Amino acid sequence: MTGTARQATTGGNMEEPRVAIIGGGAAGLSAAVAAARLGAAVTLLEADARVGKKILVTGNGRCNLTNSSVSPSAYNHPEFVEQVLAGHSCDAIRSFFGGMGLLTYADEEGRVYPVCNAAASVLEVLRLECGHLGVDTRCGFEVTGIAEAPDSAGFEVLSRDGGKLRADAVVVTTGGGESLLTATGHGSVECVPVLCPLKTELEPIRGLSGVRVKCAASILSGDGEPVATERGELLFREYGVSGIMVFDLSRFLERGSTLCVDFFPDMSAPDMRALLSGRCTDLSWRTAQTFFDGMLHSRVAQAVLRAARIDSKTPVAELPCEPLAVILKDFRLTITGTGDAAQAQVTRGGASVGDFDPHTMGSRLMPGLYAAGEALDIDGRCGGYNLHWAWASGIVAGQSAARLAETCATGDYE
Ligand SMILES: Cc1cc2nc3c(=O)[nH]c(=O)nc-3n(C[C@H](O)[C@H](O)[C@H](O)COP(=O)(O)OP(=O)(O)OC[C@H]3O[C@@H](n4cnc5c(N)ncnc54)[C@H](O)[C@@H]3O)c2cc1C
Repeated sequence: MTGTARQATTGGNMEEPRVAIIGGGAAGLSAAVAAARLGAAVTLLEADARVGKKILVTGNGRCNLTNSSVSPSAYNHPEFVEQVLAGHSCDAIRSFFGGMGLLTYADEEGRVYPVCNAAASVLEVLRLECGHLGVDTRCGFEVTGIAEAPDSAGFEVLSRDGGKLRADAVVVTTGGGESLLTATGHGSVECVPVLCPLKTELEPIRGLSGVRVKCAASILSGDGEPVATERGELLFREYGVSGIMVFDLSRFLERGSTLCVDFFPDMSAPDMRALLSGRCTDLSWRTAQTFFDGMLHSRVAQAVLRAARIDSKTPVAELPCEPLAVILKDFRLTITGTGDAAQAQVTRGGASVGDFDPHTMGSRLMPGLYAAGEALDIDGRCGGYNLHWAWASGIVAGQSAARLAETCATGDYE
């Protein structure tokens, strides 16, 4: 396809294949670039006054755009994601951006950032490329409906203020939350915030707000089975717990889940019992209040004693080592909910992946309609995985839409 004028199927005008992309976030911008590179006339419709606003706040303003360990297992529907990642590895995404002039580096944990450490540079290269490729970007265009065109050739995209746009193919990249895809008959999975802090019962964490501990933590299901375990730094907050490891665990939350914190993940339970028993002998002159000094943050020590119902004045010689060892390896917190939706990086839920073909990102229900990014029920770990999904699925959807639109424009569409 060259992008030169063509015979449109919808009338006698000579037209290019037209692709409308709804939502100018990460997925929409990459879809726009990919479709325009294949010669489609791309219109990018964004409800907000500017495209890519969310990109600017990613990675604490640095934009962690992908991860060198990206793999299907980092996502909730690995078998679906696998098809998209097969052609779009971390290197492929880095070279997609490299082709737009963005230099990137990977840190020791594989997280990829722009070398200038500025999320604005990621958005800027996308905007420049869209401009260079002739993408028609319309901000303030909030799409309220997608309908098949009356003459059955392509779609009509309708805006809140009565605007209407014809397109041969449409890509929906409107992000998480209520979606145009549901309105067009696609199945949906309830949206809940993930990659967010967790609220817990407050009494066990009294006095701990602001304390950071290196530990392991697990989400336990209602029947006490571990569902997911992470290691890293946990930050106690006045309402519960936060930190990257907690964000990752939040993806596995179910009704009735409990959090189990292991303050000494490198030590087995018997070793912990032996350690405490040795301390009881060696430090028998201390009281419970100072027993953990040199071993635990003092405020965590207080919380552990409280959980074991041990008075801080108890002489060490009288300390029950067994329950203390259990609590240090299994400090339980009932989870009462997720942090505010505003604190969540990603929304789980959205359009059901079963209604889309992962090879093209095309709808199985509405030929000519594609979706990408968070609009679909896909979420991944912290560390660049969600943006990777947005770019990769956006590229696949944009390319597929451009190819489909070309068949419409040349009259080959069946
Ligand atoms: C604070 C924060 C930090 C994050 N940091 C990272 C990170 O470092 N690495 C990482 O991988 N992920 C990160 N994420 C997650 C990542 O930003 C998202 O996964 C990604 O932006 C999703 O891209 P998207 O294009 O699917 O959706 P969005 O970025 O949400 O874009 C959707 C766009 O569609 C527009 N829109 C919605 N409805 C309509 C409509 N009806 N008509 C027209 N336009 C519409 C919206 O205005 C928006 O511009 C972070 C998220 C947050 C909130």
